[in-house]
Amino acid sequence: MTKPVLVIIDPAIKLPAGAERSTVEQSGDRLRLADPDQPQINVTDLGVTRGDGIFEAFGVSHGTVQAVEPHLSRLARSAKLLDLPELDLDVIEQGVRLAAREHEQVPFFMVKLIVTRGIEGVEEPTAWALAFVGDDYTARQQSGVKVVTLDRGYRHDVAQTSPWLLQGAKTLSYAVNRAVIREAKRRGANEVIFISSDGYVLEGPNSTVILKSGDTFVTPRTDQGILVGTTQHALFGIIESMGYATDYRYVEQHELTAADGLWMVSSGQQISAVVELDGNPLDHDHELTQELLKRLVERSL
Ligand code: PLP
Repeated sequence: MTKPVLVIIDPAIKLPAGAERSTVEQSGDRLRLADPDQPQINVTDLGVTRGDGIFEAFGVSHGTVQAVEPHLSRLARSAKLLDLPELDLDVIEQGVRLAAREHEQVPFFMVKLIVTRGIEGVEEPTAWALAFVGDDYTARQQSGVKVVTLDRGYRHDVAQTSPWLLQGAKTLSYAVNRAVIREAKRRGANEVIFISSDGYVLEGPNSTVILKSGDTFVTPRTDQGILVGTTQHALFGIIESMGYATDYRYVEQHELTAADGLWMVSSGQQISAVVELDGNPLDHDHELTQELLKRLVERSL
């Protein structure tokens, strides 16, 4: 089995007043390879005791860490929403790249970056990057996913009305995101699309929703308390280069069944077609899905 690689990161910017960053903050001192089989986390770390922290999961395809800048921008946005200290994105990027470099170069693996609020009372964030071989998505990439729609229980404008609910931040509190997959399985499916309480399509628990309507690929607008998807962003670049149009807009639930194609995309699975929605089969273009998958896996950014 391929062994995971762990890099412990000192992630916050903490310059003494007036100090030159280059002389004080040598990134080498702030990254440390550690043994993933040994305990590394304090039992009072708020990431563990309250799920109080944020994360990113980078795909590494044929040696390329994908979508580095979009992931780091999203991390910074999540940190801001949680009032975490300002993060040193340069050091964090080096930590992610170090983990990826030190890992066995299998065709595809993940680097999961975690930043927590740190040990209770200390107020210094804890961070690490773990490179590992994640779930095998080959079956769903080839055969598609069966999806159920589930009510998320928030209106589509929750991010504006109630920003303290942190919708749109990639927080460590993913127990709900796991629970909905168990609910999908109880209903004979293996994926979920969240719907707002007022009927708008949001996202999956770990993925972004993409629809095709004629020659336009559409994704739900991200001002609805959903994540800005790094894979969706890359996919739209690919799609535009193939001559299709793209659009970010509000999508109503009934549009899902009327779409000319429906996909879930994320850093780990890259892209899977939705072949069944709430128990009803959906038409899907296998060739197009495979072409998009190939281009996503082979992208250089
Ligand atoms: N939405 C949620 C809730 C997610 O957890 C994820 C993936 O981690 C995504 C969307 C897709 O984001 P990305 O394509 O950057 O992996």
